[in-house]
Amino acid sequence: MTFAELGLNQAIQKALADSGYTEPTPVQAQAIPAALEGRDLMVSSQTGSGKTAAFMLPAIQKFSSAEPAKSGPTPNQERQSARARGDRPRFQAAQPKMLVLTPTRELALQVTSATEKYGAQTKGLKVVAILGGMPYPKQMQLLSRNPEILVATPGRLIDHMESGKIDFSQLQILVLDEADRMLDMGFIEDIEKIVAATPQTRQTLLFSATLDGLVGRMAQKITQNALVIKLSGPSAKHQNIEQRMHFVDDLSHKNRLLDYLLRDVSIDQAVVFTATKRDADTIADRLNIAGFSAAALHGDMHQVARNRTLSAMRAGQVRVLVATDVAARGIDVPTISHVFNYDLPKSPEDYVHRIGRTGRAGRNGLAISLVNHAENMNVRNIERFTKQQIPVDIIAGYEPKKTAATSKPISKSGWKPGGARAPARTESRFGKPGAPKREGFSRPDAPRKDGYKGARTGTSARREYGDR
Ligand code: AMP
Repeated sequence: MTFAELGLNQAIQKALADSGYTEPTPVQAQAIPAALEGRDLMVSSQTGSGKTAAFMLPAIQKFSSAEPAKSGPTPNQERQSARARGDRPRFQAAQPKMLVLTPTRELALQVTSATEKYGAQTKGLKVVAILGGMPYPKQMQLLSRNPEILVATPGRLIDHMESGKIDFSQLQILVLDEADRMLDMGFIEDIEKIVAATPQTRQTLLFSATLDGLVGRMAQKITQNALVIKLSGPSAKHQNIEQRMHFVDDLSHKNRLLDYLLRDVSIDQAVVFTATKRDADTIADRLNIAGFSAAALHGDMHQVARNRTLSAMRAGQVRVLVATDVAARGIDVPTISHVFNYDLPKSPEDYVHRIGRTGRAGRNGLAISLVNHAENMNVRNIERFTKQQIPVDIIAGYEPKKTAATSKPISKSGWKPGGARAPARTESRFGKPGAPKREGFSRPDAPRKDGYKGARTGTSARREYGDR
């Protein structure tokens, strides 16, 4: 299958060839023809599957072949003539044709730069990102260009809608990217408000790790006669990502082990995930002192600083990014070879997204979790969710004093970072007879008729992701 066979025009084919894409990914092969026909889509696909191009390429094609806008002044021309007439300048609301909603700023910026890449050969296409943390005057200036495509996080978008800066009456395509994550972060009401402000005639494309439960019900509500494309469930196997875990006794053991593992010469770039922003800062500082080129990334950082850190990562100036879950989605740096869970994530879904930061664009990756014995249950939940066992690894000289009560040795390790250890591996405790009953991750209950149980981390998630 080629991009030409999917019905994409030559300008797009050229941009894709320039990006080094030789053939469509499975999600692109299935979604693009249907999206070009104008159908609504409900797609479950794993992170890193090429979904951005799956929704963006048909849109770029549609806008490139559209009639140029009927004569009439652009918002900029309006303002200039108002100024010439001596009138008070009036802000003309932007009238985008496409809106892409994403859960995080990082993902929004990622989608925006991918769109610029895919539309590089298509004349006159304007794409603008509207996200929290950016100064309002700058965003007004971007909106005054009247872009065809808006990529936005929900909170800040609503601020602009409410102050009359955006008018969705001309909207043709609405995309919900990582819809499950948006619901998880508590954006359901914002999404409902935004959807209600768009025309019924729109084409709706929803992408999510899962189409089960609430996200599936919401998808049914906002799409019409949608084509359902199921490429993977929530527990999509990252076949190209090897997973390992190490038991640690305490913080000092964990830090020593992390330092050892980071000295592996096979690491190109790594992301170390921490549970708190403070730990992200502390560990980044500590690693810098230890001679690693490390940088922190978390939601308390100003957006400009976050962007600068990500650019430094992309440019290869940062080798170890120490991040909170703000980085678990939307970071697409193909040279990230390793992911470390310094702390386990709050949910198995987050685990899947974290490890998906490596093994991008068909490469191999390695995900290593440092696990306290008390976190055994969380590991089991992850294993049950991914339907994959996470082998336990032990490094000579860094053995835990305690051993997992329910673990037992299995086959020899084939993976030796730096070749400097003799790994002995133990089986995960998945499905052992007599093992304590597994528990799900708790979510706060909130009374909504549609079954929505509230954001997993509610307000704190919003603060973390700094949407406004
Ligand atoms: P996405 O799932 O859209 O975030 O894409 C994941 C990664 O795959 C990004 O680095 C894309 O540049 C890359 N990618 C997307 N489509 C293709 C393709 N057809 N061939 C090769 N790489 C691709």
